[in-house]
Amino acid sequence: MTIRDCYHICLENKRNLLNSRNEQRQASLSRLESENDRFREIKQLMSALGAKIAITAISGDKGKLKKMEETLYVLGKEREDLIKAAGIKDISYDCSKCKDTGYFEGKICECIKREATELCIKELSKVAPIDECRFENFDLSYYPDMETDSGNPKKRMTEILKLCCEYAKGFEPAKAESLFFTGNTGLGKTHLSLAVAYELIARGFNVVYGSAYNLFSKMESEHFGEHTDRAYTEAIECDLLIIDDLGGEFVSPYTQSLVYNIVNTRLLARKPTIINTNLSMADINRIYTPRVASRLLGEYNAKRFIGSDIRQQRSLRK
Ligand SMILES: [Zn+2]
Repeated sequence: MTIRDCYHICLENKRNLLNSRNEQRQASLSRLESENDRFREIKQLMSALGAKIAITAISGDKGKLKKMEETLYVLGKEREDLIKAAGIKDISYDCSKCKDTGYFEGKICECIKREATELCIKELSKVAPIDECRFENFDLSYYPDMETDSGNPKKRMTEILKLCCEYAKGFEPAKAESLFFTGNTGLGKTHLSLAVAYELIARGFNVVYGSAYNLFSKMESEHFGEHTDRAYTEAIECDLLIIDDLGGEFVSPYTQSLVYNIVNTRLLARKPTIINTNLSMADINRIYTPRVASRLLGEYNAKRFIGSDIRQQRSLRK
């Protein structure tokens, strides 16, 4: 579910809640009117007086007008007292800013932004461990500070963490670069991809995140089953697309062409994508053709994660 879907859902919920509160209050007032003679009488008096005030205002008799307005005020007060005595409360708003309309000064209110973000992250947490994967809890102590054949893991990962933090902080859809994370399983590729996703969703960006398996299965079943391409269109149009674990999908000629189309179309539209994979470049070449491999290497900022499997280390530490 994208942040836009979440906005729609939250706005609609808010509208329904407000309507039902209004209806409840209106029903209570109607009941009071049918049960209380004086309440009914006040309503008639106030409405008649309102019409007279309008005419008197035109005639310009200020003394008469003032008296009428005073009477109207007294009647109004009596009406309010009757409502209060009947136990009918004013509508209380959850948001004093937009009075639960969802809009403030012509823009979507902060309360909707907050709710939509929460909903979006809650939905994502059903398919990915987004709650556990933040920048704050990316633990560099798992990466040894020593020279290896592929470099110094601590130094490399400190650099990549910094890159991801800055990427999320300064993200602009039309300017952000695409990132390509490679390396063995358990080195934090999903963790950092989710941490970026979390920050950007929290800032209101339209992020589509999914494992290659989930994303491509959905696209395939929509395309061939329902003859729609909703998931594909979302993946093409979103501010940031994150494909986790490329190569983990069931590879077919259809998914191969999806990868090419998505990578190519988003590059042409200057829209950023983050792809991570356990595959080697040779595998990518072979599975997705050299055209895809050359784009991932040439036009994405490619980073190789190094170190040893964190999940294994974590279970050893326990
Ligand atoms: Zn509000």
